[in-house]
Amino acid sequence: MIHINSFDYALKCDQEDPLKDCKNLFIKPNNIYFCGNSLGLQPKKTKSEIEKILNTWGYMGVDGHFHSSSDWVNLFKKAVPALSRLCGAKPLEVYPMNSLTVNIHLLLLAFYKPQPGRYKIIIEKGAFSSDIYALDSQIAFHGLNTEDALIELAPREGEFTLRTEDIIQSIEENRQNLALVFLSGVQYYTGQYFNLRSISKSCHRAGALFGLDLAHAIGNVPLQLHDWNIDFATWCTYKYLNAGPGAISGIYVHEKHFDNSSLRRLNGWWGHDEQRRFLMERKFISEPGAPGWQMSNPDILSLTAHISALEIFHDLKLDQIFEKSKKLTSFLEFLLYDLPNVTIITPPNPAERGAQLSLFFEKNGKKIFDAISEEGVICDWREPNVIRVAPVPLYNTFEEVFRFYTILKKIMESMVDSTV
Ligand SMILES: *Cc1c(COP(=O)(O)O)cnc(C)c1O
Repeated sequence: MIHINSFDYALKCDQEDPLKDCKNLFIKPNNIYFCGNSLGLQPKKTKSEIEKILNTWGYMGVDGHFHSSSDWVNLFKKAVPALSRLCGAKPLEVYPMNSLTVNIHLLLLAFYKPQPGRYKIIIEKGAFSSDIYALDSQIAFHGLNTEDALIELAPREGEFTLRTEDIIQSIEENRQNLALVFLSGVQYYTGQYFNLRSISKSCHRAGALFGLDLAHAIGNVPLQLHDWNIDFATWCTYKYLNAGPGAISGIYVHEKHFDNSSLRRLNGWWGHDEQRRFLMERKFISEPGAPGWQMSNPDILSLTAHISALEIFHDLKLDQIFEKSKKLTSFLEFLLYDLPNVTIITPPNPAERGAQLSLFFEKNGKKIFDAISEEGVICDWREPNVIRVAPVPLYNTFEEVFRFYTILKKIMESMVDSTV
């Protein structure tokens, strides 16, 4: 993409942006908010939708569960059409439930079945702490040893991100005893979007399963989980899906596993045959597909926030969102190339990243972060030396990208001056 380093160019891009009105659907802080990778902004509609639930609860009490206008019992089905589009999955393969780390555990309990000859797990080195803790504890749960069972794949010396061929090579080298590859779709620290299709193929050739944490991928990059033959996945909804802090998570399970009775799935009453759920029968009869994985009756307040935010995606063409995202992020990248002391560790190929760029600073990273925060930029600092910046296509603008660049440039120039 060819860009021009000028404020007028940024304004022109905003004027031509087919999604330019979308930002009005969100409550926007005064600051430049480039932190949607951590917590997405609040859709304006969310508050009134939650108020409706509070009113129903207040005035109808328990009847809210079944009353035709509130129908809490069926509410979560409303999330399915948008989730299945975002995941590239069949409607029965996805469902909202629980929270992310809990879902990682529940999915691993079912899908990670270590045998003496097949027990190893591959994950990217530097994965999100919670994912590593989940894997460590699952491995220990099976009486195994992390040092032996967990392979943490690191980038080559001097590189920041993993090469697909190296991931595939490691899968092939470990094919004799590999049980599972568990990766982020988009890596939270580097912003790298892995080549899921190729990795999935190689994984299955090796006789292993492929599971994903899509926390930074869903709503951020195009996904085709079903066609790519991904076995299982989970995500949170408070990052690019804008459902609010700690909101309900969701799972995807490939349909080929629906009737797999060897999965050690843990059941609860909400996964029971929906028509018969309230008969409180002794024998568990599963709902077909992902809904059968539910355990508890869901948090209706959080689900409501999730659904009202999903409706924004539902009304748009996903391709248009991802196209804008590529343009917005490539504009940011283009401007940052102008700053000599900033190293972008996110892959330069737009097919290998989403909205986020991770800026690596040899020194003064935290000082620069504090200074841009003072100037009204909200992005985030990741130890030891990375600032993550994510212009989100639904609510960020080219003008904001340009203003961010101007602020960063001014601060970096003043720091160079102060050291001479
Ligand atoms: C945000 C994030 C989490 C957070 O997990 P919760 O269970 O929702 O607290 C976990 N893993 C990854 C990769 C994340 O990006």
